[in-house]
Amino acid sequence: PALLDTTWWQTCAIPATVTLLVVGGLLGGLVWIWRNLRVARQRERREHARALELERTAAAQARQAKDAADAANRAKSEFIATMSHEIRTPLNGVIGSVELMLETPLTPVQRDYMATVRASSEALLATINDILDFSKIDAGKITLEHALFDLRQPAINVVQILVFRLGEKPLELILDIAPEVPLGVYGDSARLRQVLLNLASNAVKFTSRGHVLLRIAREPGEAGAGRAVLRFSVSDTGIGISAETRLRLFEKFSQADASTTRRFGGTGLGLAISKRLVQLMGGEIGVESEPGAGSTFWFTLPVQVEDLPVSPRAATGDRVLVADDLPPARDALCGLLGSGGIPCFGVGSADEALEALRRAAEAGAAFSAALIDDSIAAADGGRLLQEIRADSRLAGLNCLLLAPHHHRHREAAEWGEAFAGVIVKPVLQVDQVLEPLREKRPAVVTETEILPPATGPVVTTLETAPAAAGGGRPPLHVLVAEDNAVNRSVAGGMLKRLGCQVDFVVNGAEAVVQARVVDYDVIFMDCLMPEMDGWQAALEIRRHDSRTPIIAVTANATANDRSRCMQVGMNDYLSKPLRLNQLTVALERWTSRKVDGGSGERGGTEG
Ligand code: ADP
Repeated sequence: PALLDTTWWQTCAIPATVTLLVVGGLLGGLVWIWRNLRVARQRERREHARALELERTAAAQARQAKDAADAANRAKSEFIATMSHEIRTPLNGVIGSVELMLETPLTPVQRDYMATVRASSEALLATINDILDFSKIDAGKITLEHALFDLRQPAINVVQILVFRLGEKPLELILDIAPEVPLGVYGDSARLRQVLLNLASNAVKFTSRGHVLLRIAREPGEAGAGRAVLRFSVSDTGIGISAETRLRLFEKFSQADASTTRRFGGTGLGLAISKRLVQLMGGEIGVESEPGAGSTFWFTLPVQVEDLPVSPRAATGDRVLVADDLPPARDALCGLLGSGGIPCFGVGSADEALEALRRAAEAGAAFSAALIDDSIAAADGGRLLQEIRADSRLAGLNCLLLAPHHHRHREAAEWGEAFAGVIVKPVLQVDQVLEPLREKRPAVVTETEILPPATGPVVTTLETAPAAAGGGRPPLHVLVAEDNAVNRSVAGGMLKRLGCQVDFVVNGAEAVVQARVVDYDVIFMDCLMPEMDGWQAALEIRRHDSRTPIIAVTANATANDRSRCMQVGMNDYLSKPLRLNQLTVALERWTSRKVDGGSGERGGTEG
């Protein structure tokens, strides 16, 4: 049994030990693996948590940086808005006083100096407006209007402003609106006008002779029901732009070279502003140009269109020949007359004109009128007109001279006898042609209505009525609420020149009291005033008086300001610097009285 026992032990002990060792090893291995896995998982969790923490910190830092940038941007915009207000307020004093000074008797030298002061202050004002605009667009603070307007208005207005600026520059301005262009469109007419004015002002600035053509056409192709894509272009025959400059043209503060500012002035902001505005309106902008070969700036605009009611024009029975050697001018005029229901045929020389006139007369479809450009009329010592007069077949022909704007007075004097009328270019409305056609009397000078450069709301007329103020009625009694002494004296000077009796107050609270005591014809209200601002004052006045027109006058020319003025019950809005003609228009509109710009010295009490 001992042997047996030993054998049993011997036979079992070894495998058992081995088994134990293996199981122990396995268990140990498993424990080791499990521990390692746990450590790895913990490390992973820690790393994940750290990554999350890092991400969170980075996001917080980014948020802080963005907040700081936004705050800095807001501060910059506010600073610029405040600065521009602060600069515009005294500028208002300068421009207004100069305007008044220019109305007084001055020696030619003084007049020259004053004209320079006016031009410089207006240039400064334009620069300030550009900077303010750019910063607003940059800060995303521009809101576009979406209102129905007549597309012709901003375009005509731009040409009118530029004609005024042209002076004696031998430059022809042409407006050509293609017949397929829808005239009623929805959008922001003021911003459209701003872009057009930027491009067209540059064209006039950088072109010493030749022409500037503003064209509006419709892009071919379908834009969807009730929609169209319009293409605006401004072409000039000026100095042109090199390929290298073209690349950076639409960047801010970019000019062709350092001499540009010295020679032509400007800030290099106009095109950057134009580009951003066009993009905001959903369009594209570009340029084609070669040095010495002129430039064409263009932009597209997708618009919603609407048929505008057109008052039908009675057929005049006229058939008109247009003789002009400048093809775009000829085409634009023929297009305008055609759209006004006047059949028109264009020729480019005296010989072509004679041939067309004679052939039509022989065919029994004679032209009733010939509009003859001055260069064709003057060719060969006035041969065209002599031949027309000598030809009995053309006896009934009504000849009108088309005179360039810079020669309007010379042409009227030189040709007045020979022609039945003189039409001063640019021809922007059919009536400019129709009136002399109807009147058929010699030397009628039909000139496009010229506006001074407007920086504020669009002004629709320049002339004040020649009639005596109020037709014998008492003078208009107006209240001016304005805290700035210079502005008070400028506004007062202008209003007195317009024959008004003027009372002044220096803040909104005084305006409210004064408006209760006196029954004013109009109240002019500055918006930013101490104690009580103009908006609050207007609200207070409207509690008791819904009748007296209140016209806001402020240096902050934003759409928001305008709507704020309307919300508090004001009737109209004038932006500083005040202009005599803006005041005239506002007074006439809100008092329904003709205002006389000539009678200055009636009473007024400064309070
Ligand atoms: P500004 O005219 O105030 O300098 P813009 O941004 O309007 O600024 O124009 C930038 C530059 O582009 C101008 O300085 C000029 O060099 C060039 N430029 C713009 N329009 C024309 C043009 N029609 N012909 C020639 N150069 C032009």
